[in-house]
Amino acid sequence: MSGPPFVTRFAPSPTGLLHRGHAFSALTAFAAAQAVRGRLLLRIEDLDRTRCRPEFVTAIHEDLAWIGLAWERPVRQQSDHLETYAAALATLKAQGLLYRCFKTRSDLEGEIAGAPHEPMDAYRGAALAAAEEARRVAAGEPYAWRLSLAAAERVLGGFAGLTFVVEGEGLVQARPELGGDVVLARKDGAVAYHLACVTDDALQGITHVIRGADLIQAAHVQRLLQALLGLPTPVYRHHRLLAGPDGKRLAKRDRAETLRDLRARGMTAAELRGEIGFD
Ligand code: GLU
Repeated sequence: MSGPPFVTRFAPSPTGLLHRGHAFSALTAFAAAQAVRGRLLLRIEDLDRTRCRPEFVTAIHEDLAWIGLAWERPVRQQSDHLETYAAALATLKAQGLLYRCFKTRSDLEGEIAGAPHEPMDAYRGAALAAAEEARRVAAGEPYAWRLSLAAAERVLGGFAGLTFVVEGEGLVQARPELGGDVVLARKDGAVAYHLACVTDDALQGITHVIRGADLIQAAHVQRLLQALLGLPTPVYRHHRLLAGPDGKRLAKRDRAETLRDLRARGMTAAELRGEIGFD
């Protein structure tokens, strides 16, 4: 007996050691796949060369094996596929969907301070006059490529047709404006998360994206990119985020206790699984 295909993934970024929150996310995806005899893939999202480190990639493999996760090989590591993401970027560029953004973080912070109701990540820019842009490019000023929501809206004839299924909620209308004109290639040339993510979800045949509720907004932006690139849309499932003893969500930057730490102080994988609800 076999049901419809079910392929999900766990896609950590190797910017630090994994903590309980990652274990919870990985085990949630694993359990969902196991329940329907589906497949779980691991994807290493290491495009941010300034923050990702090879030793954290090794640690991800070790820590996930320790908690009892099993995943298919080969593992896709994004830094091995830069030309694939460059091609996706070029496809969008050729449709006139991207514009250069020369602004620095402090320029943006200044603008946001002047418009406090616009969240920092919902930047909406205007293209520069051609002559000014050419001058800055010629002067070697670095720039990011942003997706123009206005251009995307024109190309698609509006966003009304953009819907996706969120488990537990049903059909949801995508609101890409929540994320604003997102950066798709950074000033240092690195392709940004959303573009690599939709490209890989499609290439890997992901049918179900299962990830934390911190990425709810990402689905709205990613649905738009799928439409612009002609890619299929998976089903989305968002799981709750584990909180630390202070009630705040666990995060690498707050130095949440790592799986390494737990193991070093003698916790067994079974104890950890039990503690976060996977017996
Ligand atoms: N690499 C992302 C992160 O570590 C996860 C992306 C995703 O699951 O779509 O937060």
